[in-house]
Amino acid sequence: MIGVILFTLMSFIISILLVFLNNFLEKNEKEEEILKALPGYNCGSCGFGSCSGMKDALLKDKNVISKCKFVKNKEEIMKIIENL
Ligand code: SF4
Repeated sequence: MIGVILFTLMSFIISILLVFLNNFLEKNEKEEEILKALPGYNCGSCGFGSCSGMKDALLKDKNVISKCKFVKNKEEIMKIIENL
């Protein structure tokens, strides 16, 4: 009986950990998608130092995309952010 309870408890804990891990990996995947969609010049003229800095800023406020004068696929980037 105690074996069944332990097995059920361990299964529950493992499934919760897997859900957290999946969410974490999905978020990282989306962040990579945003970074790939940015021009990649790393010129810093947006004020965030690099495209990676812009990606981090976009995660907080999607309107900062207007600060990059080189980006041509704003709609694609907006879709990725909205699906986060
Ligand atoms: S202005 Fe655009 S290309 Fe230049 S670093 Fe910022 S996001 Fe990248």
